Amino acid sequence: MFIAHMPAGFLLARRFLRSERDNANYLKYLLVGMIASIAPDFDLAYFYLIDGRQHPHHSYWTHIPIYWVAIYAILVYPVYRFFDRIGVKLLSLFLICGLLHMSLDSIASGIKWLYPFNTQYHGIWRIPAVHEWWVANYLFHWTFLLELLITVTAAFTFLRDRRLLNDIRYQLLVWIYQLRPSIRLLRGLAKINRDT
Ligand SMILES: [Zn+2]
Repeated sequence: MFIAHMPAGFLLARRFLRSERDNANYLKYLLVGMIASIAPDFDLAYFYLIDGRQHPHHSYWTHIPIYWVAIYAILVYPVYRFFDRIGVKLLSLFLICGLLHMSLDSIASGIKWLYPFNTQYHGIWRIPAVHEWWVANYLFHWTFLLELLITVTAAFTFLRDRRLLNDIRYQLLVWIYQLRPSIRLLRGLAKINRDT
């Protein structure tokens, strides 16, 4: 996957949020879900800057599901103690969206799903390296249509979500108000509050 990770994370986080019916933490859920859905690829910094592209980045622990589950298991109790139920829900969402990333990576590449019992990469298709520029390999493979579909669905969902747009505007106005309070901003906040 190349562009669809974050849109997919947005869609899944929204689903999760709806089942939780936790509107007070709307933005938090979406932010955590979207960051988690691209978090495994933060290892690309290590891949390019430190490892010198010596090992496939899917071989790092950041792309191995068992490590995600183990870290979740270690953190779940301390998070519960310090951040209560909301912390556990957000941590669970982080795990789910991280696993979503790896599931999407398994469509056109491979992930070590059975590690440490089996060190093979498991995936459905492989994108062949036919173009010199690696991005072109993704753009001209048919699975890119799937990525477009996910991205367009997420964009439509985002634009149709009045509550989310209102929440984002509200949060932005609050930040601006904290920097520079004014009556006009206060009126704007009251109006968004009424609309919601
Ligand atoms: Zn990845």
